[in-house]
Amino acid sequence: MHNQTITELSAGLKAGDFSSEELTCGFLQRIAQHGEALNCFITIAEEQALVAARAADVLIAKGEGGILTGIPMAHKDIFCTKGHKTSCGSKMLDNFISPYNATVVNQLESAGMVMLGKLNMDEFAMGSSNETSYYGAVRNPWDTNCVPGGSSGGSAAAVAARLVPVATGTDTGGSIRQPASFCGITGLKPTYGRVSRFGMIAFASSLDQAGPMTRDAEDAALILQAMAGFDEKDSTSLENEVPDYSAGLNNDLTGLKIGLPKEFFDEGLDSEVAKVIEVAVEEYRKLGAEIKEISLPNMQLSVPTYYVVAPAECSANLSRFDGVRFGYRCENPADLNDLYSRSRGEGFGAEVKRRIMIGAYALSAGYYDAYYLKAQQVRKLISEDFKKAFEEVDVIMGPTAPSTTFGLGEKADDPLSMYLSDIYTIGANLAGIPAMSVPAGFVAGKPVGLQLVGNYFSEGQLLNAAHRYQQVTDWHQRVPAEFA
Ligand code: GLN
Repeated sequence: MHNQTITELSAGLKAGDFSSEELTCGFLQRIAQHGEALNCFITIAEEQALVAARAADVLIAKGEGGILTGIPMAHKDIFCTKGHKTSCGSKMLDNFISPYNATVVNQLESAGMVMLGKLNMDEFAMGSSNETSYYGAVRNPWDTNCVPGGSSGGSAAAVAARLVPVATGTDTGGSIRQPASFCGITGLKPTYGRVSRFGMIAFASSLDQAGPMTRDAEDAALILQAMAGFDEKDSTSLENEVPDYSAGLNNDLTGLKIGLPKEFFDEGLDSEVAKVIEVAVEEYRKLGAEIKEISLPNMQLSVPTYYVVAPAECSANLSRFDGVRFGYRCENPADLNDLYSRSRGEGFGAEVKRRIMIGAYALSAGYYDAYYLKAQQVRKLISEDFKKAFEEVDVIMGPTAPSTTFGLGEKADDPLSMYLSDIYTIGANLAGIPAMSVPAGFVAGKPVGLQLVGNYFSEGQLLNAAHRYQQVTDWHQRVPAEFA
């Protein structure tokens, strides 16, 4: 059962081949068997999952419920889940039991999905390897000495190892797509504002966006359908109507214009990864697409721009963790200043502190214009590059990441090299456009992701392009031998 797609599982539930309770127990068993080795779960919500599964079974027996009713899933631990620990991968929130649900949690719950637990992640979603978590590093199921990518590494590892059929993730600079690429799964970052950020612990509010992490594009369409939509609780939520994402999955790709930005194939790209991407692009040519080279001239500025904007916003967002209202509080504070400084000093890890310091510096009087304002101006140029590109092409393609997964610890002491993992993904966040990663092959047994970037609200088109590709390839069906 664990190798079936949502559509297959849903058909099995409706036909009475198995119940949601059986399905849930089956996945909980797999989590018990493999979860620890991968370190991908922070919380397992066994009891609540069984209650939800039984409720789903009652609905299914009455012929009620939808395609997601009774399907197990898990959330990245950045989403507030009522009554459960919501740690965001940090000691700061290790003792935090959320009093409410994130909108995304409510949406998937009302669709009848069964939440099995909360997934490990980089601390406050800052990282590209899932090594900054207070709960320890997550391991990549394709090679357990390697990282799963980050920050949604627990989500990617759990889906790749088939411990859950689907998971949620969040993407501020690549955290859905890069781990999806490293673990050989499908991940979609929607248009900024398409999915509610309410109850999703904020990292960099103008960049953060939640999305599905699944086995394939068909499943991603179903999950996005349930997640997308206006939310009055999120002031940046968009009111545009949500289309039927599954309806266009099989559209013909003849005449689809695909742009390959030459900046995505520069000297920073591993040559073996480049070959895999070339073969994938060739598949699209066979499917009728027209391929042309394009240029995104300001792309090399995306990493430096991001590392001003994201830390600046994070330094403001994380000021709420002060040891007073919730989260970690130091022991025996001498006075208020001691309470603030020791609670934050002891509660945050090294990467989070580094970001807060960079951000506070970039925002400080005298430096604001030179750094933050400048970064916002460059951000605009990067958006303009995409805008111009989409006058010529429908979809932009390239590698999701410059390399395949790397060894645990290999880049842990080299933040700059770690930051470059997101060189091809950050642009979409700065511009607010949708992008996804689909499995496209392997280099020395390690998965490679193909990135598809689209114009605002083109999620349907991206899913269509991904689905057609997945019909003629089987990379997304490969499972790491130990977890088959
Ligand atoms: N790896 C990037 C960072 O460390 C992106 C993280 C993310 O998308 N949440 O900030």
